Amino acid sequence: MMKFGGTSVGDAVRIEKVAEIVQAAALHSDVVVVVSAMSGVTNRLLEAAAESQAGNGEAADGILQELRARHEQVAGALIRRSVERDLVIGQMRELFREGETLCQQAIADHRLTPQMRDSIASLGERLSAPLVALALTERGLTSEAIVATEVIATDANHGAADPYMDATRERCGARLRPLLQRGIVPVVTGFLGATSEGLLTTLGRGGSDYSATILGAALDADEVIIWTDVHGVLTADPRLVPEACTIPEISYREAADLAHFGAKVLHPKTLRPVMQSQIPVWIRNSFAPEHAGTAITPTGVASCAGEVKAVTAIGEARMIIVGGAGAAEVRDALGRAGSAVSAVRADAWLATRSGLRDEICIAVSPAFAERVASALRGEFASELTQGQLDGVALGASVGIVTLVGQGPHKLLEIRERSLAALDRAEVEIVAVGETSAECNLSFVVKPTDVNEALVVLHQEFRLGQLDSQALPVKVL
Ligand code: ADP
Ligand code: ASP
Ligand code: MG
Repeated sequence: MMKFGGTSVGDAVRIEKVAEIVQAAALHSDVVVVVSAMSGVTNRLLEAAAESQAGNGEAADGILQELRARHEQVAGALIRRSVERDLVIGQMRELFREGETLCQQAIADHRLTPQMRDSIASLGERLSAPLVALALTERGLTSEAIVATEVIATDANHGAADPYMDATRERCGARLRPLLQRGIVPVVTGFLGATSEGLLTTLGRGGSDYSATILGAALDADEVIIWTDVHGVLTADPRLVPEACTIPEISYREAADLAHFGAKVLHPKTLRPVMQSQIPVWIRNSFAPEHAGTAITPTGVASCAGEVKAVTAIGEARMIIVGGAGAAEVRDALGRAGSAVSAVRADAWLATRSGLRDEICIAVSPAFAERVASALRGEFASELTQGQLDGVALGASVGIVTLVGQGPHKLLEIRERSLAALDRAEVEIVAVGETSAECNLSFVVKPTDVNEALVVLHQEFRLGQLDSQALPVKVL
């Protein structure tokens, strides 16, 4: 199973490179390809959706025209034979017509349903898959583009759908296996699926990684390779910490924590589908396929227990504070807060009790803050009426910087050492939290301090040193 991200299919030259990688792999094993939209396309499609929702038909139209020109130019550069080229350009025009119709409908109705938004957002993958399939055909492989509505069965949670694995397994067996048996390389659209009624859904931004592991698990793949634009999972986001190094091997748990705490290299749910079957996931660079990349394995490297592996950040979160003199006595307050958050389909990055100030602090995405605050008011209604709690307040915008490692052995030492380093750098700590007692430690800081904190912690744990790649530096 091989997934190629947006920059890996960003133009005709990049798609040629993808075809080269797939062709080499297809020499010795069956390959299923999953593709993202070309880089930047999903953002533009969502802008078109927002413009039409706001009644700006011309702006939405302009975006669709621009995207059509870009895709047709790529088709022209990739496909030599005019019959195939005209055919794919015809198919693409059909997809753009679908986009235009949806935008016009949104303007006429003054509303854009989540399902319409998903249909528009997913056009990018539905456009890129046929282009990649044709690039493979140009190289002499047999290939077929598949829209994932045919193979990934999901719930109806538009914009953040989750798969029904049994149904997905069945569909993959019926649709993809026969292709593989005939030596055909399926090129499946990432990011999307369909409900049992056949309505198109999307899996959330960056969700093509998730598509790849869903399909990998459904087909019992030997491995899932996620091809992207960096050498693998790095010790930090290289855009923010240029000294970051590639980590040769990390565990599912560590990679999942990194993704959960903001490392864009993986969609946060990517590892869920493979946890049970223990299929290894590789992150590799399609711009430099000679590099081995990072292996994400069930347990990672045993010798690294207790060490810091990487540091990651969420640039903007919102604190919600449940406070009051009796907060410490509220039974199972964190557990109840957690359930209230999940009940509104939000995700708390952090939930801590502050003994000092009698508070429960919960950090969530700013988009969910209001919804979570009112859910918490509902959950703690009786404590609020009885005066045990004073109120639920929306706090300031914050950033969250998280150290990820393996095993809780040295958490205390790591915590002390981090606090001292951050203090020396005059980074003010708003709160400290350990979520999955397993392997991570988060520091809540001001949004303006996030970059500094990342660099300081990366340096403190010497994550940028080559030695630390093979065997992370021992914490004193
Ligand atoms: P794709 O389009 O291939 O899915 P993304 O842009 O979604 O690629 O993810 C890759 C990017 O993730 C990298 O270019 C890098 O800037 C960012 N990133 C953030 N944290 C990390 C990390 N710890 N390791 C590697 N890349 C990271
Ligand atoms: N194209 C989608 C997005 O930009 C999915 C992905 O790239 O993984 O969110
Ligand atoms: Mg991505």
